[in-house]
Amino acid sequence: MMEKYHPSATDSDKDSPYRKILSPVSSLKGVGKVIARELQKRGIQTVYDLFYFLPRSFQDRRKFVPINEIIPGQSALIKGKILKLGRVRLRYRAILEMLIGNKNGIISARWMGAPRYLFRFRKGEDIILFGRFRRSFEMLETYHPEIIEDGDEHEIGSLIPVYPEIEGISQRRIRRIVRDAITRFTQNLEDPLPTKIRQARKLPELGDAIKEAHFPSESRPEELHIWRSPAQRRLIFDEFFMLQLTLALKRSKASRQKGIAFGTHGMEEIYRSLPFKLTGSQKRVIHEIITDMSRPFPMNRLLQGDVGCGKTVVALIAAWAVVRNGYQVAFMAPTQLLAEQHYLSTLELTRRMNLKAALLTSGMGTLADEVRNRVKQGDIDILIGTHALIQESVRFHRLGLVIIDEQHRFGVEQRAILKQKATSPDVLTMTATPIPRTLGLTLYGDLDISVIDELPPGRKPIQTRLFHERDRTKVYAILTEEIKKGRQAYMVYPLIEGSEKMDLKDATQMAEELRGILPDFHIGMIHGRMPLDQREGIMEAFKKGAIDILVSTTVIEVGINIPNATIMVIENAERFGLSQIHQLRGRVGRSVYPSKCLLLASYRKTGEARRRLGVIEKTTDGFRIAEEDLAIRGPGELLGVRQSGFYNFRVANIMRDAEILSEAREEAFRLVDGDAELAHGIYNILSSLSHSSNFNL
Ligand code: ADP
Ligand code: MG
Repeated sequence: MMEKYHPSATDSDKDSPYRKILSPVSSLKGVGKVIARELQKRGIQTVYDLFYFLPRSFQDRRKFVPINEIIPGQSALIKGKILKLGRVRLRYRAILEMLIGNKNGIISARWMGAPRYLFRFRKGEDIILFGRFRRSFEMLETYHPEIIEDGDEHEIGSLIPVYPEIEGISQRRIRRIVRDAITRFTQNLEDPLPTKIRQARKLPELGDAIKEAHFPSESRPEELHIWRSPAQRRLIFDEFFMLQLTLALKRSKASRQKGIAFGTHGMEEIYRSLPFKLTGSQKRVIHEIITDMSRPFPMNRLLQGDVGCGKTVVALIAAWAVVRNGYQVAFMAPTQLLAEQHYLSTLELTRRMNLKAALLTSGMGTLADEVRNRVKQGDIDILIGTHALIQESVRFHRLGLVIIDEQHRFGVEQRAILKQKATSPDVLTMTATPIPRTLGLTLYGDLDISVIDELPPGRKPIQTRLFHERDRTKVYAILTEEIKKGRQAYMVYPLIEGSEKMDLKDATQMAEELRGILPDFHIGMIHGRMPLDQREGIMEAFKKGAIDILVSTTVIEVGINIPNATIMVIENAERFGLSQIHQLRGRVGRSVYPSKCLLLASYRKTGEARRRLGVIEKTTDGFRIAEEDLAIRGPGELLGVRQSGFYNFRVANIMRDAEILSEAREEAFRLVDGDAELAHGIYNILSSLSHSSNFNL
């Protein structure tokens, strides 16, 4: 792993001002073994952890609400006399009812099951209750209100925190524990965040922030509700700041490493050899990449752009520059299949560019040895394969650039291996899933980013329509019409991870069925389990027009470009992420003819699936779609893998708190640029406070 900075404030460091808040929660009043274990399950081990376990909402118990001012449907704190107390029966269930009144009126408070402890209350006594009221006939009633008794003065007179449920611990109990922690541990609490940053961002001091975030004294419920009280902002900021500081330090460390300064003159020559004119966007990012490559530090750049925007050619141009300098390029895809696909789809360009490309995958047998040898001799310019490329078995003659496609599927670990292995080659990472900016900043926060935000000219917008499974015949009718015009079609069976075998069977069956339903057309089938040469043959046939309908699994996700294919049907669309569907449909819409994408799905009219798929019907903006995916399915799902903890924030939420994330990022990077030593010091403190492993340099 990367070198880890040694924290200066560990438990063993007796002088650290932070030592105290690293006390285990079991040192708090009321926390025994059982509760400590429950807290631990929530990742709460120390007092510091507990401070970042924030209330999910607040109950407004600031003042007593006169009974005649209670709003049905809302909660209220009330005070009154017990006018009547007794059991009532309601649909065979025992209920204890209290009628409570004062000069403003009478309410009914009810408890199902008539719990025993309530029978110690007496008629005529005063009582204080907090509950949610609803109207029932003449009277307002509340079920299971909380009774506030003598000694509960903390429980009223302010906004009272409501914490996320923890098994076996009542809300009152959690409040008492947190209150104890705050009284004992926030006095004179050292604040690791520099005062300058705090003031610039109008953030309260740490101790105050903790107090106010749990027990707000300056009560503005609206702010609290949207997580924007100064105290909440401060704690959210902290979490982002910690991550961004890690990223900023990583980056500054990388920038101090020695890299290759590639000569980059005479690029026009290669532009002329391309079969098309580059878009303005492509030229801009090529310039960014090339400029970066000419510096004597390792490049670490992310190339982002919607599907079909032409990232591959940009990467190949960078590769060409590297090869011209006498270095080699490793081009890595996340799976063997994708690597093969890349190899096939870049053949034309690499030939035109005079680059010697080779494929290396585990399925190649003895041929692999030959490829390895040639790579070692420097006889191969670009080696395409999976991330196995950067592992021990492959020795490059002179590796200068690593291109990583679909980086998000690799995960952060692979990037780390890569940086360790190679002698500081440049790294260009491409991602086809447009990553919402906020997520990008946490996931790729240590990278420079280039964005292609333009599609090659002549692309016709794809008309997308959603069909319910029972309207399948309509879909076939549209399909038939299109093919009769001389166009071709994709029929896609996206595979679900883990159920490939079943899905494949479905796809094969579907091809058979289609042959029966549409006997006039040539129907081909392609899938990932086919050997490479067979797949090549089928693609060739499709390209030449010998196949009208190509039934496929997600094999066609990358790199296939057949302009005459203008219609795509996606089966089982409800099972897939919007971004994935968006990627798939990018395979049509590549010619002068208008294109269509038909989604076949099972859904209820009012259901979530319908709503979700509706988004993809309406927009072709990959970024918007990704944002939507992120909102609906969360980051892990969107990226197809669960990344290593990078968004296991306790307080922060990358969507809700996007602007705080930007602020924290700015400050962290500025701090590292301005005062690296101070930045390291703060990093050490912060990482010693957090026992999570997310923040290793
Ligand atoms: P991405 O990887 O960004 O999804 P590709 O690099 O696969 O997109 O490009 C999609 C297709 O568009 C390829 O067939 C490529 O040759 C073609 N292409 C790329 N750039 C241009 C351009 N400037 N003009 C026309 N076609 C282009
Ligand atoms: Mg691509």
